[in-house]
Amino acid sequence: MTRNNVALLGATGSIGRSATAVLSCCKERFNVPLVAARSSIDKLAGCAGQLDAQMVLTTDDTKLDELSSLLPPGVQALSGMDALIETVTSDKIDTVLCAIIGTAGIRPVLAAIEAGKTVALASKEVMVSAGELVNAALKANPRARLIPVDSEHSGVFQALAGRRKDEVETIILTASGGPFRTWSAEQIATATLEEALDHPTWSMGQKITIDSASMMNKALELVEARYLFEDYHAKLDVLVHPQSAVHALIGLTDGSLIAQCAIADMKLPIAYALTYPERVALPVEKLSLAAMGKLEFSAPDRKRFPAFDFADAALSAGGTLPCAMNAANEVAVERFCAGEITFGSIYRIIEKVMSAWHNEPQISLEQLDEADAEARRRAREVKL
Ligand code: NAD
Ligand code: MG
Repeated sequence: MTRNNVALLGATGSIGRSATAVLSCCKERFNVPLVAARSSIDKLAGCAGQLDAQMVLTTDDTKLDELSSLLPPGVQALSGMDALIETVTSDKIDTVLCAIIGTAGIRPVLAAIEAGKTVALASKEVMVSAGELVNAALKANPRARLIPVDSEHSGVFQALAGRRKDEVETIILTASGGPFRTWSAEQIATATLEEALDHPTWSMGQKITIDSASMMNKALELVEARYLFEDYHAKLDVLVHPQSAVHALIGLTDGSLIAQCAIADMKLPIAYALTYPERVALPVEKLSLAAMGKLEFSAPDRKRFPAFDFADAALSAGGTLPCAMNAANEVAVERFCAGEITFGSIYRIIEKVMSAWHNEPQISLEQLDEADAEARRRAREVKL
């Protein structure tokens, strides 16, 4: 079997660790020439050792010496975004697994698409902020492919396999509801960091865990779904499903719903994105519906979770508004984690930035950089 040459970006994070487990248990399928991250250089070097990576890259130039000192002879240390782009677009790489948190993933993903690579995309911010540019790049480079890793979107992608586009009426993402699913609006408004980090079903990085508590994760995921599945013109919806066994459903014209179910473990969608259209045996538990006993579903409560109003606005406007929503949310989450604002103020910051936004269609990366920086500046300055 020819091995798939995978570049793992964001190797030291939560997704990066799950990806390392998948890649190291299927070494006959995967070669990993490059692992990259920004910080935690010791972890990055450890991951490189585990995957026998020949090139290891930090996007932080000041960490290059530290990285070099930790690598064995023969393994190349690299630094900087330009080097990252040069490597992922080289003929050493077939597939780029992007698990960089935030918008720093946009440049390498666009470059990989332009070079005709397969991109396995965990970084939802890439589709949220730059979905129009990414889709334009995919149309212009038909050899390139984009396969979702986010669990709900992987679920949709799996349910859609082989389906005619005009048969699909709805795309439904599920949400666990997070730690505040049953809390009152007043309780949510004053929730602490510790309470927000106490996710009931998924173990993830800090930022996405806070987003799950505020439901901004689902707002981001609705926008992500809009761009990933744009060609289906399907209605997007969310169901709260506390057991996190069903990750997504699609509704067909005859009224059938097709659901994708599995345990809540990111190794599964990561592996599927890397082996698609094949599947491999994985070291994960199998879902037992009998052991689970019951599956519950309900519509999200839009009054307690204004995130859905932001999603509606971003979905109908498109352009740079989703980028502004994402940037405002990132700053609001940073301010909350720093103890500067209450949990409820996260919504107020996003609302202020979005309602005053001058929207434009997406035309270039430079324009998106400016929109992102402007939304961040405004979100930092919101007085509460
Ligand atoms: P994390 O914070 O645990 O890890 C982030 C990784 O990105 C680290 O390796 C870090 O070094 C790297 N990074 C940060 N800034 C960078 C930069 N400028 N250049 C290069 N690398 C940089 O995050 P995570 O929870 O693993 O999430 C990663 C992405 O996957 C996010 O976009 C998130 O929304 C998405 N996602 C995560 C999960 C999950 O279960 N954790 C599920 C679905 C989607
Ligand atoms: Mg998700």
